[in-house]
Amino acid sequence: MDREKVIKAVEDLLDALGEDRTREGLKDTPRRVADAYAELLSGEGKTAEEHLTRTFASDGDMVVESDIYFSSVCEHHLMPFFGKIAIAYIPDGKVVGLSKLARTVEVFARRLQIQERLTRQIAEEIMRVLKPKGVFIACEAEHTCMTCRGVKKAGSKTVTYCALGEFDEKRRAEVISLLK
Ligand code: ZN
Repeated sequence: MDREKVIKAVEDLLDALGEDRTREGLKDTPRRVADAYAELLSGEGKTAEEHLTRTFASDGDMVVESDIYFSSVCEHHLMPFFGKIAIAYIPDGKVVGLSKLARTVEVFARRLQIQERLTRQIAEEIMRVLKPKGVFIACEAEHTCMTCRGVKKAGSKTVTYCALGEFDEKRRAEVISLLK
């Protein structure tokens, strides 16, 4: 991200919106917005390899980590969407520390996203690096581009799923029921 360019662009945006950007509340806004974007998009270009390669041997069955809270930025409106993700996987001899799953979510949430791709990228990365027998991701989010404008359905939720590898209907249903 080119911070100076973002600052300039936000100045131009405020001008285009007809605002007086020299007034008290706005004078540091371009800098604040640039810093916010730097943080919100800090996962851009990263992989979760460093988090998913620290594994422990385990011959256990399915692992489910639910209520992993995240926030991301919708690439269609540059507005936040946020919610929670559940990750379920069937280990093939190794498991990863639970906090590493949350870190994996961060890598993919901190970039311009759509919820469907976020869900799929997390599943694909876990398959690629941890190599479980199967993985299932459930993601529930509220999109501020939906709830603060347009149809204004306050509190409406969008749910996306992605299953890869060995993850049959019965197990998916089991994970989904855990989320209710
Ligand atoms: Zn949107």
